[in-house]
Amino acid sequence: MEEERLLDLAAQYKNESFFGRYIPLEEVEKFIADFPSTQKSVLGESVLGLPIHQLNFGEGSIKVLMWSQMHGNETTTTKALIDFIGFLQSDSAEAKEILSKISFRFILMLNPDGAKKYTRKNANDVDLNRDAQRCSQPESKVFKKLYTEFQPDYCFNLHDQRTLFGVGEPAKPATVSFLAPAFNEDRDVDESRITAMQLIVYMNMSLQKIIPNQVGRYDDGFNLNCVGDTLQNLGIPTVLFEAGHFKGDYNREETRKLILIALIKSTWGLSTKTYKNTDYQEYFKIPENKKCFYDVILRNAEKRDADLAIQYKETLIDNKISFVPFLETLGNLEAYMGHQEMDVSGKKLLLNRQENLSEIAEIQEISLDGKECLVNLTKA
Ligand SMILES: [Zn+2]
Repeated sequence: MEEERLLDLAAQYKNESFFGRYIPLEEVEKFIADFPSTQKSVLGESVLGLPIHQLNFGEGSIKVLMWSQMHGNETTTTKALIDFIGFLQSDSAEAKEILSKISFRFILMLNPDGAKKYTRKNANDVDLNRDAQRCSQPESKVFKKLYTEFQPDYCFNLHDQRTLFGVGEPAKPATVSFLAPAFNEDRDVDESRITAMQLIVYMNMSLQKIIPNQVGRYDDGFNLNCVGDTLQNLGIPTVLFEAGHFKGDYNREETRKLILIALIKSTWGLSTKTYKNTDYQEYFKIPENKKCFYDVILRNAEKRDADLAIQYKETLIDNKISFVPFLETLGNLEAYMGHQEMDVSGKKLLLNRQENLSEIAEIQEISLDGKECLVNLTKA
């Protein structure tokens, strides 16, 4: 499938009812309300008793399981999955082909408690992506029961990553990152992992044309407590998707589109088997992610010989995510880049009007006043 067609489909099937970073369960429930009962079910409940919904589509022999918002504050892939379902329900020839070959199971929101409070972890403060072996949490039990019964041929593990990840040299934002998780300590490559790598290479071929040098490869350190590593260890080809930052796109609407494109391309590849024509070794040529970005950097302040890094903290206020600026660090930040940069050379940097105050705190205001760069902090 050509990039032009992928971009066209992505524009066509964006669900305009969903926008921004905050998606609680009610939004998902509104979306699935009209689906026939044969196409949806409740798999179980979260810690606080919220339902975990499953959707199923297609009648092909290839079984694909996708889940999003295992981390409650990672909603970009949920939006993309909703758009993808819209595409599947359409009259497009590609959707019909895909649905004739694939049976899908989707969990749009595995962690509804975390989604509500906009937290990564669940209501017991457990990271579900470190609970794959112990299965101590109700959400983990629900998930394990599903993959044990469904026996997927492929798994798509859908996440967001923070703005601090970059890729390449000079670094660009890692807008989309992938991982074919390891299945053992030695990070060996077996048939299942090769399949995951081929799928990633297949998606990357298109993404590179749309966002050149903004696709990263996630660190493949092995941890069997992670869901992806566990599934790969069971011999199920598993791909981790990480929706990241695109310049200026804090609502992650552009990234959402790119994830949708990746979902359409990869499932097209699965249904036509064209992904098998790729060389899995190309996977290793995708540059690794690195932590090299801050949201904002003020460069070359006087006297302190300092650059100042600001990170936005995503904060849920009145059912919306606000991006609250925090002073993250001071020092020589030559090795880092800012998604936004400002040169304050020639200006003296003062924090709360003092010269030697250094702390991590919320920023109230920054003003450039003559020869001074004044940063007003809220004391923690
Ligand atoms: Zn995550």
